[in-house]
Amino acid sequence: MILESQRRAVVDGAPDLAALTPGRTGNLSVRDGRDGDAFAITPTGVPYDGFDAADVPVVGLDGDQRDGEMVPSSEVPMHTSIYRREDVGAIVHTHSPWSTAMAVAREPLPPVHYMIVAVGKRVPVAEYAPYGTDELAENIVRAMDEADATASFIENHGLVVTAPDLETAVENTHHVESLARLYLQTRAAGLEPTTLSDDQLETVLEKFELYGQ
Ligand code: 13P
Ligand code: ZN
Repeated sequence: MILESQRRAVVDGAPDLAALTPGRTGNLSVRDGRDGDAFAITPTGVPYDGFDAADVPVVGLDGDQRDGEMVPSSEVPMHTSIYRREDVGAIVHTHSPWSTAMAVAREPLPPVHYMIVAVGKRVPVAEYAPYGTDELAENIVRAMDEADATASFIENHGLVVTAPDLETAVENTHHVESLARLYLQTRAAGLEPTTLSDDQLETVLEKFELYGQ
């Protein structure tokens, strides 16, 4: 089976996706390394416990399906376009509620908490286009490039997060979701959220290089 470990990672990651996004919404993909020319992606419109590794579609960066029993996610253009950016090994797309509230408000997330540096100094909002279109894919890549971020809200739709590997992409999706919640709850309490300065964020980035075991 081609891309077997990536396909198994998609199956194993499906419960994480189910915990983040309602129903059959959202999708995730795992690339053949950080610069490979193909990736494994969730099938379209299937419940997240409803497929196995042989079902998982394998798609080239040209958008053509190479293997897998099921039809790939409708968001293949989003995934192929994002994989053309540097150092992306996995992508998670959700309609998770707090991030989607930001997307509905069409508000970027400012640096209200130091953990934002996991995905950049802010989370931008990509302009709306119908789901699954090349136009939406272009809008998302443009928003990420302009903000120098590895995550973006999508107007009236949801969130997309990229990372070198799936574990980090899922973890960072949770970070963005909880930061969106913090921001909106602060505002819902009638308080004005404060933000960290660029210098303060740079210091966090330096410390993060040494963080962990
Ligand atoms: P798929 O089931 O085709 O991946 O679509 C879900 C989705 O979130 C589209 O934006
Ligand atoms: Zn979606």
